[in-house]
Amino acid sequence: MTDSHAARDIDTSRPHSARMYDYYLGGKDHFAIDRQVGESVASAYPGVFVAAHENRGFMHRATRVLAREHGIRQWLDIGTGIPTEPNLHQVAQSVVPDARVVYADNDPLVLKYAERLMRSSPEGRTTYIEADVNDPQALIDAPELTEILDLGKPVALSLNALMHFVTDDQDPYGIVTRLLAILPSGSALALSHVTPDFDPDSWGKVAEIYENGGTPVRFRTHDEVKRFFDGLDLLDPGISLAHHWRPDTEPTAVDAEVSLWTGVGIKP
Ligand code: SAH
Repeated sequence: MTDSHAARDIDTSRPHSARMYDYYLGGKDHFAIDRQVGESVASAYPGVFVAAHENRGFMHRATRVLAREHGIRQWLDIGTGIPTEPNLHQVAQSVVPDARVVYADNDPLVLKYAERLMRSSPEGRTTYIEADVNDPQALIDAPELTEILDLGKPVALSLNALMHFVTDDQDPYGIVTRLLAILPSGSALALSHVTPDFDPDSWGKVAEIYENGGTPVRFRTHDEVKRFFDGLDLLDPGISLAHHWRPDTEPTAVDAEVSLWTGVGIKP
């Protein structure tokens, strides 16, 4: 993408997490600054490309497992990212054509491409809300939420590669608790989160690069990630690295390369 295509509210002078992630995934929807800073991250942590792909793989499998084995028909996906095929609704609707998905992100570039997220199956429905997870009440009050989702029936809250952008002073656990509180029994949390557990030095450098670019991060340990699932019934295999969460084929990635804790829990 060339900078001249930028909408007025899109800041091309600073790197953005959604656009850097698009670069890691080999997408085209980012700017020169995102590529430059993404390349610095890749020098500090060459596994970042593998990690981004394994993160998508986790989302695909978790979505299918929830649809096939846990009767989930509705998703609230926050921190959606720039559309990348297959998007969550495409995965869900390939299993249950009438699946309904509400997407939310706070990056204006994601809003710009949101129509790609709205190409629902005829039986299902999707929508996009521009919202900040740090203001869960605004999300809860958004009229689009209840236009698309029936909060009387189970909903999967999908927070993939999002909560490491929520620092401790922003009350990450409180945010997840508040969002889960509006969902009925049988609902689910699917979450992936960067961890420094396997390669703390490299991830320390990555954190510095993000922070210098204006994006504070808080990478979390196994126990800190597990805490997001307090009060939920964790599905097997529990908190696992992304490539070990119910892989379809024998995983080839190396644990330290992936460095993403993942889990899926059901609200009792
Ligand atoms: N969930 C996708 C994309 C992850 S990239 C996936 O796992 O493949 C992280 C996304 O979170 C980016 O799109 C970024 O814009 C978004 N994000 C970061 N902070 C956010 C916040 N406070 N509120 C909402 N979205 C946020």
